[in-house]
Amino acid sequence: MPAITADTLTLPRLQRPTEPTTAWRPVQRVVTAARHVEGEGFVVRRPFPGFDLALVDPFLLLDHLGAVEYAPGEAKGAPWHPHRGFETVTYILDGAFEHTDSTGGGGLITDGATQWMTAGAGLLHSELPPQEFVAKGGLFHGVQLWVNLPRSLKWTPPRYQNIGARNVTLLASDDGGALVRLIAGDLDGHAGPGVTWTPITYAHATVAPGARLALRWPREFNALVYVLAGRGSVGPDARPLDEGQLAVLGAGDALTMRASDSQPLAAAAGWEVLLLGGLPIREPIARYGPFVMNTRAEIIQAVEDFQAGRLGVVPAAHMPHRTSADSPLPA
Ligand code: MN
Repeated sequence: MPAITADTLTLPRLQRPTEPTTAWRPVQRVVTAARHVEGEGFVVRRPFPGFDLALVDPFLLLDHLGAVEYAPGEAKGAPWHPHRGFETVTYILDGAFEHTDSTGGGGLITDGATQWMTAGAGLLHSELPPQEFVAKGGLFHGVQLWVNLPRSLKWTPPRYQNIGARNVTLLASDDGGALVRLIAGDLDGHAGPGVTWTPITYAHATVAPGARLALRWPREFNALVYVLAGRGSVGPDARPLDEGQLAVLGAGDALTMRASDSQPLAAAAGWEVLLLGGLPIREPIARYGPFVMNTRAEIIQAVEDFQAGRLGVVPAAHMPHRTSADSPLPA
């Protein structure tokens, strides 16, 4: 897992919340991610949607790609397809994805980098492993998160942010037993690099075997913990949480979790968890494939706009092109 690593002893420390007065957030629910086939035929683990979306608002979807060891010629992606009405946040721990879009944005996301794409009013994009990676094969591990936009921002112009592996904010737990890579939002007064329309906190932590991570969390945000690799437990009741499982936490002002003493080989450095939370938008959601709007009429409009080329066109340099095999749009 070469997503950025660091010596935790040299990093700023997150203050451990004061024990007697802290309201630790309890685990409300544990969800095991279902497997789905996406794009050209790669498997993702998807803990949500699949249950009440209000529990994860403002998030819409979390796709866990890999970890998978691709043989030469095997790596797959998602060729040209549209989006409107939300943001996709792609974090690549191992391997690489090449992003190209119809507004001229894009870039290579690799080894610990994040790409934050605000689809807003709409665009077309392509998310593919680079030719060189396809030819050679190798380890691929990444996550794509969908963050909703409120009604007032659905028509915002598309925007790209490339957050390099070295630009994430690195923090340590109070005893140095956990490394926290803050991608967006605030933790204990430290800010992550991601610029978000919807207030969220998004971090990837590696918790050493047997170590505890305890940190303050904004009371008005919801709180989710998803396991990328390894095993541990979450909340004051120490609910077990293994690879591919999501914990939805209840109210409170701090999170507590602990890595198990023994870890599988995939988590040799520690228990790998994503920490997510945001301010719920609490608006109606109308959703169809790559479009997330507030009403059914807006979805119909999105399909019509896409078919009429109003979400953009595939750049000439990319013609002829492949389209997504599982295109959610009727021909
Ligand atoms: Mn996409």
